Amino acid sequence: MSVRVPFLDLAAQNAEVADEVLPVWQRQFATAGFVGGPEIDAFEREYAAYIGVAHVVALSNGTDALELAYRAAGVRPGDEVVMPANTFIATAEAASRIGAVPVFVDVDDEHLLIDPVAADAAITDRTRAVVPVHLFGQTAPVEHLAPIAARHGLAVIEDAAQAQGARSPAGRAGSLATVAATSFYPGKNLGAAGDAGALLTGDDDIADLARRLSCHGSAAKYVHDRIGMNARMDAVQAVVLRAKLRRLDVWNAARRMAAARYDALLADVDGVRIPRVRVGNEDVWHLYVVRVDDRDRVMAELAEAGIGTGIHYPTPVPFTAAYAPLGVRTGQFPVAERAASQMLSLPMFPHLTEAQQLRVVEVLRSCVRARRRTEAAA
Ligand SMILES: *Cc1c(COP(=O)(O)O)cnc(C)c1O
Repeated sequence: MSVRVPFLDLAAQNAEVADEVLPVWQRQFATAGFVGGPEIDAFEREYAAYIGVAHVVALSNGTDALELAYRAAGVRPGDEVVMPANTFIATAEAASRIGAVPVFVDVDDEHLLIDPVAADAAITDRTRAVVPVHLFGQTAPVEHLAPIAARHGLAVIEDAAQAQGARSPAGRAGSLATVAATSFYPGKNLGAAGDAGALLTGDDDIADLARRLSCHGSAAKYVHDRIGMNARMDAVQAVVLRAKLRRLDVWNAARRMAAARYDALLADVDGVRIPRVRVGNEDVWHLYVVRVDDRDRVMAELAEAGIGTGIHYPTPVPFTAAYAPLGVRTGQFPVAERAASQMLSLPMFPHLTEAQQLRVVEVLRSCVRARRRTEAAA
């Protein structure tokens, strides 16, 4: 039996919400209600209640949300922003776009999240903010970063793009610091039908400033008190997000069940290092990332067997060509660099079936075993 397993399949979740979304889209189209309006307002209220923050500002995408979070939290041109080397480039890009300087630090080997000790050591008198990235679906150690940030008078800005619904003992991702940015890119745990994002904060002034900046620096039509941008969420996206938000907990629970199944199936597979959850965290498994040697070959063999996988991320951000001008050296981020050559994201989405997971593990097990035999023979 040969089951094809896509890395990600969004068709099933879209089918689940189609009956709720399509009639509202039809109405929006007929009335040309595309910018702002009741769906945006309702989504902002509902998402704020779900996460447990006072304010949600619905935005165009996660990168714009990060840029606005940085600006609204007081990051200015020339300021340094401390962030992990293993993240999606947008975390850094958003800082660079406003003339700030990303300062990369290594991650911890156990969870591949920002290392608070490394973050502390990277702080200079130009540092303005530190960014815990809740990578792969679990919260980064905000509880260790917050006291460090407080000692140095820094803002803590969460990148919650991969952790919609994730919990730490202190609350949900997005409610753990001064301000947070998230992305509703289609493949995220809560995904739109295109690009969308949001800024989350408990601070009235930050919310107000971010909202104005996202709309041409304007609170009232044609009154512009500062140079902003156009970063509003399209109203059509709020319709999809409202429908999917109602199912997010069920879908995240399905991901947790799938992760537990991978954990059990892979526990006795030598040569596959399974992901770990920080004590007290409730992980929402945006990605299930294992580590294997000879990763590229394993990935190619899985692909040949009809199994889709991903790499998050093949190049730590400071080593991308975009950040070559920073002049970082090989060996500066030993954990992130080693992980970049070993990480492999297995298929993970709420509607992944047990049969699909059994197939993934069966093939992965045989790839790793074949490699061990080759090694032994050499
Ligand atoms: C997806 C993502 C972003 C950027 O979001 P976009 O909506 O694609 O702009 C930022 N940070 C992380 C960690 C992400 O995974």
